[in-house]
Amino acid sequence: MSLPSPWRQFFPGILALDTQQQVWLDSAATAQKPQAMIDSLCQHYKNTVANVHRAQHQPGERATRSFEAARKDIKHWLQADPQDVLIFTKGTTESINLLCQALAHHLQAGDEILISAYEHHANLLPWQQLAKNLNLTLTVLPMEPTGHLDIEYAIAQLSTRSRILAISALSNVIGHSQNLQPLLNAAQKQGVWTLVDGAQAAVHQRPNLQLLDCDFYVCSSHKLYGPDGVGILLARERSVRALRPWQFGGEMVRHCGYHNAEFLPAPLGFEPGTPSIANIIAFAATLNWLKTLDIHAIAQHEATLHKAVLDGLRARDMQIIGSPNCALVSFNAPNVHHADLALLLGEQGIAVRAGHHCAMPLLQHLNLAGALRVSLAMYNNSNDIDQFFNALDQSLEILQ
Ligand code: PMP
Repeated sequence: MSLPSPWRQFFPGILALDTQQQVWLDSAATAQKPQAMIDSLCQHYKNTVANVHRAQHQPGERATRSFEAARKDIKHWLQADPQDVLIFTKGTTESINLLCQALAHHLQAGDEILISAYEHHANLLPWQQLAKNLNLTLTVLPMEPTGHLDIEYAIAQLSTRSRILAISALSNVIGHSQNLQPLLNAAQKQGVWTLVDGAQAAVHQRPNLQLLDCDFYVCSSHKLYGPDGVGILLARERSVRALRPWQFGGEMVRHCGYHNAEFLPAPLGFEPGTPSIANIIAFAATLNWLKTLDIHAIAQHEATLHKAVLDGLRARDMQIIGSPNCALVSFNAPNVHHADLALLLGEQGIAVRAGHHCAMPLLQHLNLAGALRVSLAMYNNSNDIDQFFNALDQSLEILQ
């Protein structure tokens, strides 16, 4: 199979890696960046530096306009309702921590939070710690051996004690995408707040938040070809009212006295301090650029490469974790330690991730010390896959 990527040329980082004979198969950790993003950052730092929401001077007003236009563009990319509220954070991790703290005042001992067995630590630890602090119950919805949730079973677990359901749309280990809407609907019908972690899914399936009905949606810019240090929390208008400010500082108050303050409503009441202005504007520029691409062609391209990875691993009798159907595959070689294999692959210029993937309970549940993960993005091509398998064969010859 020979499958070039028409989008590879737009990613200078990938072209640089080519000259270093490095193959990037770790996009689930972070994606390489398109020229459009880099141009936006340069343009901002060369021409339009100013703080936002503070100054009456023209550069400040211009920066504020660009910043708020970025918020609008990102909401548009998410296909959110204009009434929805987009809060900027530092990443998915911070968005989930924000929610934990901002909803805590509604929770009391005995209340229940539900997550799935395959959550990233970012969507486990904040809830686990909140549950410990407030004497809540943390219920872990089990995963089928194939790597998906039994939705009927999950719905049956909802009870009058359930208050929050937090679940990822695509696991960073299992790579199995499924329709969560029936579960989200059932939860919402019972007055349970629903959070969807889109950190992995958003880059492969453009979210449509008018179709995906949940209270809160979170994702990270850096996995979406954008800059580091930016995340979003998209909240429904009806749900954002439940949140209480959780961090405190500049530009979030209507009035501040020594002993009391009146906070601005979301989003500004949840964005104290100077935001990551250039990165947020460049994130919007990245998404605006993504909008100009043929997303069906990209999905098709990624699916073809994904199948090639799966077929090649199966042909070599590798142990594949779950039944991945999107963007990434985690696996182990029989009788080979994942770290040894990752080391040899790394020495041959193949960048894959190995370890517990910030999902330790999941790997323990699967009786695995770790796993290797190949993850794909639009810039990968069949040559990347061929090089990966050549290196894998050479490594296995040494290790087995
Ligand atoms: N959720 C999932 C499913 C992830 O894969 C990740 C990152 N690996 C996160 C949350 C956390 O994202 P970030 O590190 O950008 O905050």
